[in-house]
Amino acid sequence: MLLRRWAAALVAVFALVGVQVVSASAASAAARILYYDASQAQEFKSVVDQGAQIWNASVANVKLQPWTSGHTVNIRVYADNGWPRTYSTSLGNGRWYMGREAVNDGYYKPRIAAHEFGHILGLPDNRTGLCSDLMSGSSAPVACTNANPSSTEKARVESLFRTSVSVAPQTYVWVGSAA
Ligand SMILES: [Zn+2]
Repeated sequence: MLLRRWAAALVAVFALVGVQVVSASAASAAARILYYDASQAQEFKSVVDQGAQIWNASVANVKLQPWTSGHTVNIRVYADNGWPRTYSTSLGNGRWYMGREAVNDGYYKPRIAAHEFGHILGLPDNRTGLCSDLMSGSSAPVACTNANPSSTEKARVESLFRTSVSVAPQTYVWVGSAA
């Protein structure tokens, strides 16, 4: 009788573990997919892809994929001679520019691309001057070649997309007066 109770308890424990495994995989399957169109990014198409891949390797709740027909474009990427900048319309949506002004100054292109995608993913500029922060942008030295978000920045994006919070439209410029 005692043995049977232990067996029943063990089955209950396994059932509980099973439920947790199922819900964990359901959560990762629910990662939000954002489609970006880099067809107008001119000479920067591959660096735009690189910026997307950096985020894909960094977070689980949202994924950036090149646009394919049948899907809505979430993000359009352009290139011009101005500063890199982002016009976000809501969390995960908007457009950004790979600006040659910063590229010609020597800023690391993959860092610019990942930074601007970071704005679309809901992160504001945070001019800490630290190369280890992706969103420090132009406040870090020009020689900074870190294109990866910090653990804090990753956690923020994971949190924003876990709950799909609403984010107001914003404009961010690589070299801005805003702190
Ligand atoms: Zn910025």
